[in-house]
Amino acid sequence: MRLLHFPVKILFPNVPAAPGMPCAGEDRSIYRRGARRWRKLYRVNGHIFQAKRFNRRAFCAFCQDRIWGLGRQGFKCIQCKLLVHKKCHKLVQKPCSNEHVDPIEVKDDANGESTLGRASSVRSRADPEPPLPETPPAPASAPVRNEDLEPGSQRQYSLDDFELIRVIGRGSYAKVLMVELKRTKRVYAMKVIKKALVTDDEDIDWVQTEKHVFETASNHPFLVGLHSCFQTPSRLFFVIEFVRGGDLMFHMQRQRRLPEEHARFYAAEISLALHFLHERGVIYRDLKLDNVLLDHEGHIKLTDYGMCKEGVRPGDTTSTFCGTPNYIAPEILRGEEYGFSVDWWALGVLTYEMLAGRSPFDIAHAADNPDQNTEDYLFQVILEKTIRIPRSLSVKAASVLKGFLNKNPVERLGCGEAGFLDIVNHPFFKSIEWEMLELKQVVPPFKPRLEGERDLANFPPEFTDEPVHLTPDNDTVIADIDQSEFEGFEYVNPLLMSLEDCV
Ligand code: ADP
Ligand code: MG
Repeated sequence: MRLLHFPVKILFPNVPAAPGMPCAGEDRSIYRRGARRWRKLYRVNGHIFQAKRFNRRAFCAFCQDRIWGLGRQGFKCIQCKLLVHKKCHKLVQKPCSNEHVDPIEVKDDANGESTLGRASSVRSRADPEPPLPETPPAPASAPVRNEDLEPGSQRQYSLDDFELIRVIGRGSYAKVLMVELKRTKRVYAMKVIKKALVTDDEDIDWVQTEKHVFETASNHPFLVGLHSCFQTPSRLFFVIEFVRGGDLMFHMQRQRRLPEEHARFYAAEISLALHFLHERGVIYRDLKLDNVLLDHEGHIKLTDYGMCKEGVRPGDTTSTFCGTPNYIAPEILRGEEYGFSVDWWALGVLTYEMLAGRSPFDIAHAADNPDQNTEDYLFQVILEKTIRIPRSLSVKAASVLKGFLNKNPVERLGCGEAGFLDIVNHPFFKSIEWEMLELKQVVPPFKPRLEGERDLANFPPEFTDEPVHLTPDNDTVIADIDQSEFEGFEYVNPLLMSLEDCV
């Protein structure tokens, strides 16, 4: 699926004439769009190398040694198919022939990767991989059965433990359901990811990262915590806190734009959540309206850690080209190494959207002009266009937006010597009592309308009307999945378990 942009102006407060029809004045600039990763390419001597996994024997064309190890151990030229160690790729002197050169011996894992990420279906596989000979698909890693566990060790969950109640959301990779844990009758959200998507499009690092960050997140009031993880032969399941108030995308589509007081509150709570992640070495990298949820009182909770980068120390940088196009920071687009700064940029975009009711990169009228209706054009606008702040906003609001939306990460608000303190002390946030805020002691400006614990009024009917069942497993799809990739995915949060035992 190619993600298109529909830049039109105003938001849509109305009900459409018929389902699926646009509303009068509907603004498609605030719309659900998927996050993506673009595979990094390394160019040497005409070769275009991509990191690859090799399950089986492969030898480096430069040093002739075997390419060992786990994960993406080697590089492969997408044009001539040359295989080399990562460490050797810069030393390759033989220029790329642009034609297929037989590698010394290759039995690749056939997981072609292209420059698009996540659930995109336009993944033209530049290099059709040789079929894997004589390897039977690994058997599904059987989830540990409770009877098999040592006495006293934690029980594992399986799909049978949950009643699937309703679909509540979809993102670029996942479908999210509201479920009930049958034993306790507690309600959770269940994020379901098809393994085939993981192995087709990416390596599984991001699944591990998502799990780790969910674990970390369980300790913060503004982050969605993890209950448990389990798998079936075809799918991965994250059972997470159900956040009842819906996401900010849902609310923005109904409220047109937010009063400054409201936007300030959300921006401040989001800042605390981001700061918490940054302090733990995590760049969030996918801040956007659809990933900010509201709880039943109206406090925010960030969810979706599939784009996070872990293990980042202060001053460290990374370079993966990823994110959701409208929120990608200029330094990522420029191909520069980047750090936590990209999250503060995205907070600027999101705060702008809350205050103005449209994206700062709203490319008006571009829909009529095919040249301007492309991602490249959006990226050019992000890089070059001076951002115009609506005159209706206060001086302080304009100043905080200019601060976050500084195209130079070194000068950006939140990225200087004082870091987070510069945000705390910004005049726009003067009325915020940060300690109280972190303790959830500040009353939110808006309380989502909810009748009961299971009310789904804050989730779009396009999701809640979907049939809730999971399609039965398809044997041919499963045969292509390397189950060993997902070993050890099972997890139970000890803290939540003890809470449940008290029920
Ligand atoms: P993806 O990684 O595919 O983007 P997300 O984790 O963002 O998937 O989930 C997709 C959507 O599901 C979100 O935009 C949100 O509306 C909804 N959602 C996700 N997690 C929860 C949750 N814990 N509680 C309630 N709704 C959620
Ligand atoms: Mg998402």
